Amino acid sequence: MPELETNSIHIGKEYNRTNAVVAPIFQSSTYLASDNLDKYVIAASETKHPEFYHRHGNPTSSQVASILASLEQTEDALVLATGMAAISTAVLALVKAGDHIIAQRSHYSGTALFFKEFLTDFNIQVSYVDQTNNDAFLQALRPNTKLIYIETPSNPNLDITDLAFIGEVGKQNDIVTMVDNTFASPINQTPAEFGIDVIVHSATKYLGGHSDLTAGAVCGSKDFIQKVWKRSLVLGATLSPFDSWLLLRGLKTLSMRVRQINSNAQRLADWLQKSKHIKSVSYVGLSTHPQHELAKKQMKGFTGMLCVEVAGATEDQQYENAQITLKNLKIFTNAASLGGVESLIVHPASMWGGHHSLQQKKDAGINRGLLRVSVGIEHLHDLIQDFSQAFEKIQVTPWQDPQIKNL
Ligand SMILES: *Cc1c(COP(=O)(O)O)cnc(C)c1O
Repeated sequence: MPELETNSIHIGKEYNRTNAVVAPIFQSSTYLASDNLDKYVIAASETKHPEFYHRHGNPTSSQVASILASLEQTEDALVLATGMAAISTAVLALVKAGDHIIAQRSHYSGTALFFKEFLTDFNIQVSYVDQTNNDAFLQALRPNTKLIYIETPSNPNLDITDLAFIGEVGKQNDIVTMVDNTFASPINQTPAEFGIDVIVHSATKYLGGHSDLTAGAVCGSKDFIQKVWKRSLVLGATLSPFDSWLLLRGLKTLSMRVRQINSNAQRLADWLQKSKHIKSVSYVGLSTHPQHELAKKQMKGFTGMLCVEVAGATEDQQYENAQITLKNLKIFTNAASLGGVESLIVHPASMWGGHHSLQQKKDAGINRGLLRVSVGIEHLHDLIQDFSQAFEKIQVTPWQDPQIKNL
């Protein structure tokens, strides 16, 4: 069995039935029917049939899905139009009115809204637990619990959930476990190894990797993917042929990109940690991360995601200093999203501002001095230099001890 670097380039080539080495874009909504009606019945009903009608499937989408299933070590996968389409379609393939879900206190903002505002309208109960506390998951179990939904490392504050523990709780209690593996990517973390049943992704991020597409993926057993596919037929969030093709292209360099990003992020985090303009750095690869040992147990690399709390005597001043930093950075672009080749930075408190209350933000660990960084593959020295020149614009507050934090 070839290794993942090879698989991410070569798996699923059989879906390209042309002689073109690079799969063409199948920009077609419909496909010539077989003149044999028995075969046509199969095409119309078979899961993900790649050449029937686009909402059912597409050759490139089948190719991409088979690569993702191999990377995540699951039987099968389905790609959809966005990460939220993947998450919502997968969850709706599992739960119905009267069911109960255990989720985390801190999730990607769209996922949190889906649980809090959508599912509750359909009489599906959701409990929210502190993901860093294994017992909290056990205490939240109910007879009608159908799903444990986790995200690790979580967005934006990089808390870790114990994958092996959750996998075991799921098996013991006959509850499906689902993880959002977007922040880690399958290069850094393969939750199926720890007994997690379903892996969902925003392929918009690391998997696509160039900030030029939106896509989502669900990876799981053949049976489960068939259920998700049936839901997707009626919910309709199919991935477009062009985005599917871009995703296929992006996946070819996934392993190289993610490893370079891991390395840049680790060294940038080391540097930031020593800066007098920083109150704290959260990066799962730092020994100062409270769950670093757990991260080492279940992750092969520590991703390009890090959070910094900019220093300041008060939260207002931290906010000011965060704004100065954002305004003066030249390489780090102030934009939503993550996981691309270019470094991005956002102010989560502003990004979440319109949708979430102050309390919700506090619960998710978002303070006004917090900046979330997605490290790209630019040269490390340029990335450090960029922060260095932006920090020079900040006034140093007198309480900081220059002996300890001097660079
Ligand atoms: C971006 C993101 C999503 C949503 O993905 P879209 O492609 O924007 O719909 C879900 N989970 C995480 C962790 C994300 O970062």
